[in-house]
Amino acid sequence: MPSGGTHDRITLWSLPVVAGFTFGQTQSGNLTLLVSGGFLFGGLMFGPDLDIYSRQFQRWGWLRWIWIPYQRSLRHRSFLSHGPIIGTALRSVYLICGIVALGSVLCLVAEWLGVAIASWQELAKLVLASLVQHYNEWIALYIGLELGAMSHSLSDWSGSAYKRFKSGGLKAIMPKRKKGRRKSSPVRVKKRTAKTQRTQRKDG
Ligand SMILES: [Zn+2]
Repeated sequence: MPSGGTHDRITLWSLPVVAGFTFGQTQSGNLTLLVSGGFLFGGLMFGPDLDIYSRQFQRWGWLRWIWIPYQRSLRHRSFLSHGPIIGTALRSVYLICGIVALGSVLCLVAEWLGVAIASWQELAKLVLASLVQHYNEWIALYIGLELGAMSHSLSDWSGSAYKRFKSGGLKAIMPKRKKGRRKSSPVRVKKRTAKTQRTQRKDG
């Protein structure tokens, strides 16, 4: 598994490729910005390694405690954090729930202090309207987050294959095979069957 620094470098070096490809496909500066922003955020702060004490986790600063229940409930490199689609989807749901919980605490405090704020219904309406109106942008952002996370998982997996190769040579990553035996045995079987066929023909 590559170190946090290697992961960061991979994210930064692949950013121009992601941005260039997105712009080529969409011809939209806005969507390109969202995919690239999502990719950076996904690679540097919102990636699979939030399931351990990692750079990504540390970058959340004083908000990092949000991810402690997440870490406690997931095994490091489990499918739920490192798997494609599911990893980012679960983290997004987790973060949204966290924001809603934090928001409701802030609302309660504001109410207690006598500060007038928008009601829950109004807020929910605003969020829904933005989801419907800007669904292209939300999808672009999600694709960016997913790509950022996948660049991480891919380098994790290729990194461990490389490690196995370095410690055990080609043998470690190739399927095992026995020397010589495989080549000679099918020939012997063939000869035998040919003989049997001949004897069978003679008999018949
Ligand atoms: Zn990882």
